[in-house]
Amino acid sequence: MSPTLIYIFGGTGDLAHRKLIPALFNLYIDGYLPGPFRIVGIGRTEMAETAYRQEMRKSVKEFSRRPELVAQHWTKFSRTLHFQSHDLNNDKAYKGMASEWKEFQAKHGEEAQVVFYLSVAPQLAPVIARRLHQHKLCADPHRSRMVFEKPFGHDLKSAQELNRLLGRLFREEQIYRIDHFLGKETVQNILALRFANALFEPIWNAHYIDHVQITAAETVSIENRGSYYESSGALRDMVQNHVLQMLCMIAMEAPISFEADEIRNKKLDVLQAIRKMHPEDVHRYTVRGQYAAGWSQGKKVVGYREEKSVDPQSAVETFAAVKFYVDNWRWKGVPFYVRTGKSLPAKETLITVQFKPAPDYAFPEEAAHTWRPNRLVIGIAPKMDIRLRFQAKQPGPHMTLRPVDMVFSYATREQEDCQPEAYETLLQDVIEANPTLFMRADQVEAAWTVIRPIMEVWADKPPVDFPNYAPGTWGPEDAEALIARDGFNWATLPETHPSEAPVKKKKS
Ligand code: NAP
Repeated sequence: MSPTLIYIFGGTGDLAHRKLIPALFNLYIDGYLPGPFRIVGIGRTEMAETAYRQEMRKSVKEFSRRPELVAQHWTKFSRTLHFQSHDLNNDKAYKGMASEWKEFQAKHGEEAQVVFYLSVAPQLAPVIARRLHQHKLCADPHRSRMVFEKPFGHDLKSAQELNRLLGRLFREEQIYRIDHFLGKETVQNILALRFANALFEPIWNAHYIDHVQITAAETVSIENRGSYYESSGALRDMVQNHVLQMLCMIAMEAPISFEADEIRNKKLDVLQAIRKMHPEDVHRYTVRGQYAAGWSQGKKVVGYREEKSVDPQSAVETFAAVKFYVDNWRWKGVPFYVRTGKSLPAKETLITVQFKPAPDYAFPEEAAHTWRPNRLVIGIAPKMDIRLRFQAKQPGPHMTLRPVDMVFSYATREQEDCQPEAYETLLQDVIEANPTLFMRADQVEAAWTVIRPIMEVWADKPPVDFPNYAPGTWGPEDAEALIARDGFNWATLPETHPSEAPVKKKKS
C-alpha cells in the first residue's frame, strides 16, 4: 500500500474520540495501516499537538476494545498523530493540506494517497466537498477518497442534491458513504451463512419462510442529542439506513462474485423491489411512538419532550415499526417486520427468520402443546450469535415436544476481543480502496424512496397520542398489534445466553 495521509475533519468530535482514533490505533497494532502513514485531526478548537495526543490517548484507553495495549503501543502510534486548528469554511485550511501532501510524498519518495474523513455535521459536507475540489485535492480518483458519515441527506430530495453535487465534483469510486452496521462482523457473516452453506439457500424463499423480523432496540434515550434527533427521528436515523441494509442482506439474490458493484447491485434490487406504500396504507403498515417520562433499567428517565433542545410539543418519533413486502418472485407475500426505538427494555439488534410450521397431524395432541415453528435468529449486536430453533422430543416415556436452540456463538470474551470493530473494518476498506461495504449513490436514494411515503404521511398527520410508550417497554401497544394481527409475535433473545455458564454460587 502506498503511503497514506488521513485527514479527520472533526478530529475533536465525539465520533473521532469514541470510534475513529481507537479504530486507527487497533489497525496500527494489527499491522493493517500502510507503512508510512500520517493522521491529521482538524477542528476549530485551539489546541497544541501534545494536548491533542494526550486527549486521544485517554479516549483510546476508554473506548478501544484492547485498552491494555495502549501502554505498549501508544508512543509509537502517537508520532503519526497530528492536530491542526482550522475553520473548514476557510480556504486557508485547504492550501495547507495541498502543501502537506506534497511534503509527505517528498519525504517518502513515492506517490501517496489521501483520505478525507468528514466527521462533521452534514451541513458542512457540501462546503468541504467544494473546497476539496477547488484546491484539486481530489483530482486524482485513484489516490484520493472522501468518507461521508450518516445522515446522508435528510430526505430523498436533499440526498439527490448532495449526490448530484458530489457527482459533479468527483468520481463515484472516490465517495465512501458509511453505514457502520455494514462493517459489523455479524452483518457480513450473513453472506457467509446464506451463500457458503448449501443448507439454507434452497429454503430461503416464500415457500418455506413465513416472515422475517428485524429488531434494532436501544435501552438508552436520546442522551443530549436533542438538536440532532429533532431533525431526525427513528425512521430516518435507523430504518432508512441500518435496518434497510440488514433487510437487503437477508433478501438479496446470490451474487455471482464479491466485486463491490455486484454486491451493491444485488442489494439495490431488493430496495427497488420493496413495495412502495400508498399513503392510505401507511397507517395500516406502520407504527410510531415517543417515550414518556418514567423508569427504565432502574433509572429515572425524562420524557422525550422534556429532553434538552427538544420542542415540548415535538412530534418526532423515538420508535418506529414497519411492515414491508419485497415484491419479487423469491419473497412474494412474505412480510418483513422491522422495529427500532430508544428507551426500550433491551439493547439488541437481531434478525429473525421464521419458517413455515411443519404439519403436526402425526403427533398426539399433547405432544404439540409446545409446538413452535423453526426459527433462525441472527444476533447482530451486542450478542453475536446464530441460533436455529427446532423441535426435539422431551426425554421421558411420552412423546412430548419442546423447542430447542442450536447455537453458533462468537461469545467468549477472548473471541470477542479478536473481532475488529465495525469502524476498523470500514477504515481499512477505505485505505485499501474497497467500496463493497459502502453505500452507492443509487442505494441511498432507493432507501429514501422506500421510506418517503411514510415520512410524508407522518408529517401530514401529526400524532395525537404522543408520548405513547413508557420507557423500558417494547414501544407502543400498536406495535404489538401490527404483528399480532398476522398471528405472530415479536422475537427477543432469551434472557440468559445458553453458552454462558450459569453463575455458580460460592460455598460459604
Ligand atoms: P461532534 O461531536 O459535534 O463533532 C463535530 C466536529 O466537527 C468537531 O470536531 C468540531 O470541531 C468540528 N467542526 C464543526 N464545525 C467546524 C468547522 N467549521 N471547521 C472545522 N471543524 C469543525 O459530532 P460527532 O458526534 O463527532 O459526529 C460527526 C459526524 O458523524 C456527524 O455527521 C454525525 O451525524 C456522524 N455520526 C456520529 C456518530 C457518533 O456516535 N458520534 C455516529 C454516527 C454518525 P470544533 O468544535 O473543534 O470546531
